[in-house]
Amino acid sequence: MDLSYILNHLGEERGTYHGAVAPPIVQSSIFAFPSVAEMRRGFADEFAEHMYTRGNNPTVAILRKKVAALEGAEDCLAFSSGAAAMSAAVFASVRAGDHVVCVARPYSWTRSLLRDLLPGFGVSTGFVDGTDVANFEDALKPETRLIVLESPNSMTFEQQDLSAVARLARSRGIRTICDNSFATPLNQSPISHGIDLVVHSATKYLNGHSDVVAGMLCGSDAIMREVFKGPYMTFGAILSPHDAWLLIRGLRTLAVRMERVASTTARVLAFVEAHPAIRAVFHP
Ligand SMILES: *Cc1c(COP(=O)(O)O)cnc(C)c1O
Repeated sequence: MDLSYILNHLGEERGTYHGAVAPPIVQSSIFAFPSVAEMRRGFADEFAEHMYTRGNNPTVAILRKKVAALEGAEDCLAFSSGAAAMSAAVFASVRAGDHVVCVARPYSWTRSLLRDLLPGFGVSTGFVDGTDVANFEDALKPETRLIVLESPNSMTFEQQDLSAVARLARSRGIRTICDNSFATPLNQSPISHGIDLVVHSATKYLNGHSDVVAGMLCGSDAIMREVFKGPYMTFGAILSPHDAWLLIRGLRTLAVRMERVASTTARVLAFVEAHPAIRAVFHP
């Protein structure tokens, strides 16, 4: 699908809102039905129907369609933060007795979730240098159910070989998550490399205007339904319709912003690498 079509048109049903170019903010917690029979049908599939905004909301639905298309995913869910999206992905994927392998130096609150919070629920995590796929293989245990990647990772911007890790994981029946916040879907498509779930802190490049905290989780329809019935609906860390609207607006300029990032990176690097107060520069 064409990138500018996704950013500017996909999911927007302008004919139903007077041709408005900016979609309406459907600021409603609950939705009405013309008959009891239709309400019952809605209750039967809260994932697809607009019943209650903790489950589904028309403005949030536009954002979900766009981000799923950007990542080449069947579906995605929107969260109140990137940390909420990662927590939901992990909690939907493990249970007591399971083991997780995570790349060393992930985002600090991803590390906190795996290192400090999950042991209380009987889940342990090993952290490995992700620059060599053999390190993942060495860290696997019979009870490993999940591999968490972040490529490039926070602060040191090391990369992992997504295809190789995904192949290894699939051969052992292990689920994979990749935090794609730094690369953005314009520069890296983890699902095309065989990764199961993609997490975004949409607070960063996807929104790009420093006025929203949001998270996205992308994957197959089957896994998204599993996450929806589990941590999405029970934790309730949803994105508000207004924040979804701001993100839809932010996405309009994603392509031009990323072009500018690419065209100015070399100049920033040249400046910091030559600066006497800077000892080391990390970049992917
Ligand atoms: C900021 C960030 C997060 C957390 O996202 P929030 O929106 O702040 O909750 C997760 N991963 C990466 C790589 C980040 O930069």
